[in-house]
Amino acid sequence: MREFEFESPDSLAGAIQLLESSKGKPLAGGTDLIDHLRTGRVVTDLVVDIKKIPELNVLEINDEGLRLGAAVSCRKICANAEIKQHYPALIDVCSIIGGIQIQSRASVGGNLCNSGAAADSTPALIALGGVCSVTGSSGTREIPVEEFCTGPSQNVLEPGELVTEIKFPLPVGKSSNHYQRFIPRYEMDIAVVGVGASLTLDDSGENITAARVGLGAVAAKPFLAEKVNEFLIGKSVTEATFSEAGEIAKGLISPIDDHRGTVEFRLQVTSVLVKRVLTEAAKRASEKAT
Ligand SMILES: Cc1cc2nc3c(=O)[nH]c(=O)nc-3n(C[C@H](O)[C@H](O)[C@H](O)COP(=O)(O)OP(=O)(O)OC[C@H]3O[C@@H](n4cnc5c(N)ncnc54)[C@H](O)[C@@H]3O)c2cc1C
Repeated sequence: MREFEFESPDSLAGAIQLLESSKGKPLAGGTDLIDHLRTGRVVTDLVVDIKKIPELNVLEINDEGLRLGAAVSCRKICANAEIKQHYPALIDVCSIIGGIQIQSRASVGGNLCNSGAAADSTPALIALGGVCSVTGSSGTREIPVEEFCTGPSQNVLEPGELVTEIKFPLPVGKSSNHYQRFIPRYEMDIAVVGVGASLTLDDSGENITAARVGLGAVAAKPFLAEKVNEFLIGKSVTEATFSEAGEIAKGLISPIDDHRGTVEFRLQVTSVLVKRVLTEAAKRASEKAT
């Protein structure tokens, strides 16, 4: 591995100044970055550890929703009872990213900023209505997660900018969410298809009043499946509704052909997985008290 300097500032301003002046790379858990430095995919003279910055470690739920610091580890997220109650899709994601060692270091912010097309967290963050706070020397801007990635391993960040936190609205009434991926092996593999979904049901639990579906690994970047959302709103919670939603999702994707699966296979898996994820999200939502 090529040599680099290492800094570990404890303030956001200090980190931004270092990153701007040196074109350094931020390191949260390092579970992607260290590998990229080792293989030469990323070259830098300075790595800036961002784990000690308070703004990136916020983890707070209030009446408005969840504030999730970009550097909070997956393990910490999994251990949070309120996240489990309101945002179970985040637990679904954080408990499948690598094994326990990886989850102890890896952050959702790092998963998003790495911006892989098959990143597990991104479809779930999209489904949950996540909005990123991005801070640089010229201030802070807010970017919905579905607008953050711009292509494979690409995103809207300018040099020196950091994602500080991701905010999520509080699910109200009979609302819940779920994430699932399909992988060829049980663990330690990359999603062939990843689906996140949030559903809100009416008081009877029989009709859908709001829906957000995020799809990953089936296009150049994870995206919000708007046509699926539009279809679902006003529909009843039935197997037929979720099957049709799966068929609509198939029409929105542009998957690749590789050793993990053909285009035809990915189309089929997408339709099945969308149906399964919606079914589970609806089940979780119907169990919520109004
Ligand atoms: C064995 C193993 C298994 C894995 N399994 C999975 C898996 O199942 N699913 C999956 O999706 N991924 C998986 N990964 C990839 C990786 O663990 C995740 O993407 C993880 O969430 C990255 O988080 P991190 O905090 O380690 O990011 P880092 O490696 O610290 O950072 C990733 C990238 O984002 C940048 N960055 C980090 N934080 C910020 C920020 N706040 N603002 C701006 N830029 C930032 C870094 O500069 C770097 O370019 C695996 C990796 C390994 C090694």
